[in-house]
Amino acid sequence: MGVLPRPTAASHAIVLRTWPTGETSVLASLLTADHGYVKVIAKGARGERSVLRPLVRPGRLVDVEFSLRPDRELQYLKGGQILEDAADQPLDLERTAYLLAAVDIVDRCRPGDERDLGLFDLCRRFRRVLSSSASGSGASQFYAFEMGLLNLHGMTPELEFCAQCGEPDAVDDRGLRFCAASGGLICRRCVATGAGAAGRPLDRDSLAALRRLAADTFDADPDIDGDRLRRREIGILLHRFMTYHVPMYRLPAALDLLRKRRTDDPRAAARESEAR
Ligand SMILES: [Zn+2]
Repeated sequence: MGVLPRPTAASHAIVLRTWPTGETSVLASLLTADHGYVKVIAKGARGERSVLRPLVRPGRLVDVEFSLRPDRELQYLKGGQILEDAADQPLDLERTAYLLAAVDIVDRCRPGDERDLGLFDLCRRFRRVLSSSASGSGASQFYAFEMGLLNLHGMTPELEFCAQCGEPDAVDDRGLRFCAASGGLICRRCVATGAGAAGRPLDRDSLAALRRLAADTFDADPDIDGDRLRRREIGILLHRFMTYHVPMYRLPAALDLLRKRRTDDPRAAARESEAR
């Protein structure tokens, strides 16, 4: 009587979230390149010398081997290695927060089915630009990531036409608003009739910034990263849009920490009050 081979799979993956379980083990949700979302148990991974330990850190890009039993919700993590690009630099606190925020959002807001494979690619590209580009704070790249996620959910904001009347000409005008419930831009004429009242006023520079983010280049954007008020405004607009359109979305804890830290910093607080 032979032993039946146990089905296993190997794939590149991004670690989304981890939880301790039992005495020494770790549960981890992975977004894999080949099998989409997979939840694994890493036996003994909290032990100092466990070879699985480095593989279950949120935000890491790994090449892992795991059991693949379709009838089971939980697979066994068997082994693997950390994958890093040669150009990778250690992330500073702000970029680390953006990376953790991104994997936190992805863990809760996967579009499902084969679009999860597109999501792996989006996460990998975001991770790569964060760790390889020297310029910018990472904020504009994080916003580009959010745009990419909205796109995968089929919820790209309308930025060319008025979401209410469909007029393209009315958009290059003043008096625009951006309204999540309406699906994006609202032109001045529609605003005058009360449309988009739940949204926020949108100036032309912010509109241009949103359009650049939607272009999916992941380039650091100095007009967003270098202008605190613009960065904050774009963050609010995208946050509201995600809250309205992406099921299960909420502000990631890592971003909340970043915001609190900025407020605790006396210099940041001083700049904050100067801006008022
Ligand atoms: Zn309109």
